[in-house]
Amino acid sequence: MILLDGKKISSDIKTEIAEIVALFRKKGLRPPHLVTVSVGENAASQSYIRSKIKACEKVGFDSTNIKLDQNISESELLDVIEKLNVDPLVDGFIVQLPLPESIDEFKIISSIDPSKDVDGFHPVNLGKLLIGIDTFISATPMGILEMLKRYNIPTEGKDIAVLGRSNIVGKPIAVCLMQKTYPGDASVSVLHSRTKNLREKLRAADIVIAAIGKPHFVTSDMVGENAVVIDVGINSIPDAKNPGLTKLVGDVDFDNVAPKCSYITPVPGGVGLMTVAALLLNTLKAYKQRNGID
Ligand code: NDP
Repeated sequence: MILLDGKKISSDIKTEIAEIVALFRKKGLRPPHLVTVSVGENAASQSYIRSKIKACEKVGFDSTNIKLDQNISESELLDVIEKLNVDPLVDGFIVQLPLPESIDEFKIISSIDPSKDVDGFHPVNLGKLLIGIDTFISATPMGILEMLKRYNIPTEGKDIAVLGRSNIVGKPIAVCLMQKTYPGDASVSVLHSRTKNLREKLRAADIVIAAIGKPHFVTSDMVGENAVVIDVGINSIPDAKNPGLTKLVGDVDFDNVAPKCSYITPVPGGVGLMTVAALLLNTLKAYKQRNGID
């Protein structure tokens, strides 16, 4: 069994990006600039934003965090987005989700200039993804693709079971892996809460991608011998060894599933770390497109 080491690959990606940014600076070019927009004080969102800003610093990107009041109106937020859309010094920006209930998320995402939509959530970018045109792939699916690439895991002709059909993970990764490219050319099944014979379908898959948000849901009897298992889940559960504290686990029962696998991601230390690295790759791509750099 080989561990798919998100810590190592994400660190490699950051080193590669930092080298590219250093070259830009040498040529007198400004570095890429990522802006994060957050509304309110959601603790998880603030923590995600801090990790994104830290990653920008590490690779030499400029970053700006725009923190908006919880009570901001939809039209005020739309004004902020419009300013970012036209700012020539902003290469990419993200609006951290979730937004307060009074704000229509779809309307906000749709108002972002698709060429600056480094989260890959804009309907134009999702449409391009579906028809196989180069675009920004949202960070988690993109992180999974990078992982498959960097470990040279074959996907052509493979049966892949994606467990979960969310707009941010399940659907986009399924679409990516069915495209005529690498990683892709696979036969993808998308499994969810209404799926019949889930266990058998998972067992038959060469590659399982679990993204349902249920701790240790995928047990060893649901996974075939030598399967590749990618665990996207991030779940906080009580830590039996440290009463009163919690720990992070995935959607896969790692200890019992890992011995059957050819490759598996740990949680933490797997897909989660790839997500921020993928956002940096998207920001670099937006910067290059904006500045006509190959
Ligand atoms: P959602 O809650 O949006 O979607 C969960 C999906 O799982 C749904 O499609 C749901 O089916 C399906 N599901 C739930 N229970 C079952 C079940 N018992 N059997 C079969 N299918 C089931 O989740 P997300 O995609 O947003 O996130 C999934 C997990 O990934 C979470 O743990 C989240 O924290 C993590 N995550 C990790 C990221 C990372 O960077 N590593 C990034 C994003 C998410 P149905 O549609 O039928 O309801």
